[in-house]
Amino acid sequence: MSKKIYLSSPHMGGTELNYIHQAFEENWIAPLGPNVDGFEQDLCRYTGVSHAAALSSGTAAIHLALILLGIKAEDEVICPTFTFSATANPIIYQRATPIFVDSGYSTWNICVKETRNAIEDRLAKGKKPKAMIIVHLYGQAARMDELMALSKEFDIPVIEDAAEALGASYKGKKLGTFGKLGILSFNGNKIITTSGGGALLSDEEGLITKARFLATQARDNAPHYQHSQIGYNYRMSNIAAGIGRGQMEVIDDRVKQRRANYAFYQKAFAHIPVISFAPELENTRSNRWLTCIVIDEKQSKGVTRESIRLALAAENIEARPLWKPMHLQPVFASYPYYGNRNVAEDLFNRGICLPSGSNLTSEEIERVAKIVTSLF
Ligand SMILES: *Cc1c(COP(=O)(O)O)cnc(C)c1O
Repeated sequence: MSKKIYLSSPHMGGTELNYIHQAFEENWIAPLGPNVDGFEQDLCRYTGVSHAAALSSGTAAIHLALILLGIKAEDEVICPTFTFSATANPIIYQRATPIFVDSGYSTWNICVKETRNAIEDRLAKGKKPKAMIIVHLYGQAARMDELMALSKEFDIPVIEDAAEALGASYKGKKLGTFGKLGILSFNGNKIITTSGGGALLSDEEGLITKARFLATQARDNAPHYQHSQIGYNYRMSNIAAGIGRGQMEVIDDRVKQRRANYAFYQKAFAHIPVISFAPELENTRSNRWLTCIVIDEKQSKGVTRESIRLALAAENIEARPLWKPMHLQPVFASYPYYGNRNVAEDLFNRGICLPSGSNLTSEEIERVAKIVTSLF
């Protein structure tokens, strides 16, 4: 059996261990320390946001964002249906109600028209959504001008889930910096990793100060342990942050390599008209976290996203269908969904993510492309 090719595997830059050695030498083996501070500064410098809190995961960051916006039982939160479940789960942690909204084909992200429709319908039913989560799936920006205008018009704050979009931008501004709060993930499969981790971003210092407080068990200022609020243990360890500092030295190379993977596949499949690629909206720059293709199954003479996945799996190559929409997940099926065209469902049915790691060798990516090409 040939060596396994993964969808997206960790790719160390080389200096990560220096930061970890430093932490060992100074005995900073704790969920705070110089690497945590340094990593937060790196994130601010790179994204242009004013304040960042390094946390234990992207999911924890979304959970804290909802808490900071005061989301509680029975509140409604707008959420794209086309995303990973970690976007929606924290809404349930708060016993609030997700209002799922379909995607548009131009970005694959939340549809502006359906979002307006959802907000107006919830208002007509007597309830104003209390927050709006916007996701930049696979590193492609959502329609931020229009969505931020909606947020302003209806006075609904935005939480930007940029877990898959570090390094991507919209009109030159880095994703994760548009909303009242932005979140990043450094899980093992993301564009950079801390083995597991996340961050909360905001231009409002007060929000990030409060996030740090809540993330360290909400300890009041007292010599003993005093608590007047429920806290969480959500901070990033100084060891994980050391990996993050090393990874931030190579983030631009990682984006470059992922974009090169996309360009390679695009060229390799240029002669196969039934294969189309994830969009890149004008004035946006995707990080191409994963290269996603969609098959025109009416014209493809029996080749489907599933037959492609199985052909790759038979050669020890990992590929995965696009995210299954949340409103089709058994656990979320009972919540409201707004979508007249079912774009997310269509993309899920016909789309597949190809191996996209920044550490793929040219032999490996050629092997993948050859197997896909041979099916047509
Ligand atoms: C990975 C991911 C998350 C969650 O991040 P974790 O660090 O794994 O908790 C949230 N949203 C999206 C869109 C993601 O891809």
